[in-house]
Amino acid sequence: MFKRILIANRGEIALRVLRACREMGIETVAVFSEADRGSAYLELANEAYCIGPAKASESYLRYDRVISAAEIGNAQAIHPGYGFLSENAHFAEVCRSCQIEFIGPPHEAMALLGDKNAARALAKKVGVPVVPGSEGTVETEAEALRVAREIGYPVLIKAAAGGGGKGMRIAVNEHSLKSALQQAQQEAEAAFGNGAVYLEKYIEHPRHVEVQAIGDHYGNVVHLWERDCTIQRRHQKLIEESPAPNLPREVRQAICESAVKLLKAANYYNAGTVEFLVDRQFNFYFIEVNARIQVEHPVTEMVTGLDLIKLQIKVAAGEPLPFKQEDVEHRGVAIECRINAEDPERGFRPSPGRIERIFVPGGPGVRFDSHVYPGYVVSPHYDSMIGKLIVHRPTRAEAIAAMKSALEELRIEGIKTTVELSKAILSHPTFVDARADTTFVERTFLPSQ
Ligand code: ADP
Repeated sequence: MFKRILIANRGEIALRVLRACREMGIETVAVFSEADRGSAYLELANEAYCIGPAKASESYLRYDRVISAAEIGNAQAIHPGYGFLSENAHFAEVCRSCQIEFIGPPHEAMALLGDKNAARALAKKVGVPVVPGSEGTVETEAEALRVAREIGYPVLIKAAAGGGGKGMRIAVNEHSLKSALQQAQQEAEAAFGNGAVYLEKYIEHPRHVEVQAIGDHYGNVVHLWERDCTIQRRHQKLIEESPAPNLPREVRQAICESAVKLLKAANYYNAGTVEFLVDRQFNFYFIEVNARIQVEHPVTEMVTGLDLIKLQIKVAAGEPLPFKQEDVEHRGVAIECRINAEDPERGFRPSPGRIERIFVPGGPGVRFDSHVYPGYVVSPHYDSMIGKLIVHRPTRAEAIAAMKSALEELRIEGIKTTVELSKAILSHPTFVDARADTTFVERTFLPSQ
């Protein structure tokens, strides 16, 4: 087992990894930007190094600084968390060439799956259904028009290097396709430094169902069941739950098996998530792999009783998975609400600032993963998520009631948050009856945005 791990991240996920390491008796090296200096969780690390100014491109994204900190701090492995360098195949390769274990998938699998077109091609090859679309990137307007005519409108233009819903545009006819293509290419170039885009049929009224999986270095890959992440705002997840409600048992099984098949074909190991869209007829389509731990991993932890971060560390250290597929349990229902520092009255723009007061709910089966506290200043430089509230109950109705009660208890003063929006969603009959699709939140609560 590793003696020391460097955590190349910040905020709640840095604290989450710190906790896992401390329980495992592993020493930790934390890194922080000037904006995060003084964050309370840094005190839990054995060592902490400043790696640059607030701007992520000058600190958390700088391989050289992260790797120097690992070398100075004598860390044998790096946990990248999510975001920042977590899905950067080149960074993973550089770590390994410096004899530092990257706690994540092999860089070859990351590079393959990070290219959405290559991932689609692999899925097709192994018989995992994909959304009908172009065979690879679309370079010209003429090509886009031809593919769209073939698959039928509406179509979605997506960035090959995409993530976070950026570089995605819907086109409903030939006229809108022309402008959408240019916009998507420009947005993709600006966001990912790669303007390559591809076309997919726009699936109407989809649900987002994803499969958590984990693999070891010996070719074992198991799934830890699914999460439903249909509740989104602008393609950003807001509420996640497991199991996916109203999903026929055989469809659930087929989705989970498809995920394992795809990851095995990519020679994958460590934690990963395979995302699918499910339409009203329960057809499912692979959309992408997230080759890292995800924000919503606690949902799976609650229903399976497993600690995903500890598992990531164990398999990275070369331990075989300590269980087989048939040993993975799934008990009850877990729901997570992301708590974002955003102002609902100003189009959910980030609402940074000082948290004057915070009161956190608790009790059995109620978990709050967060690094914030009274007096904490939410920085405008990073993602607006400040915490995650998770509940676990025997049934979905009980889990919804528990989440509503916990959200009532949660008090955050000084900044604006998404708490009220989450409460409204949880009380809405469409959510309660599990009839939502991925556009439900925008259509129902934010029609003018
Ligand atoms: P990103 O990597 O930017 O997050 P994804 O491919 O994971 O992009 O898609 C994000 C979200 O966009 C999905 O959860 C879904 O809501 C929507 N989406 C993606 N592809 C389609 C599609 N073909 N039809 C309808 N909605 C889609």
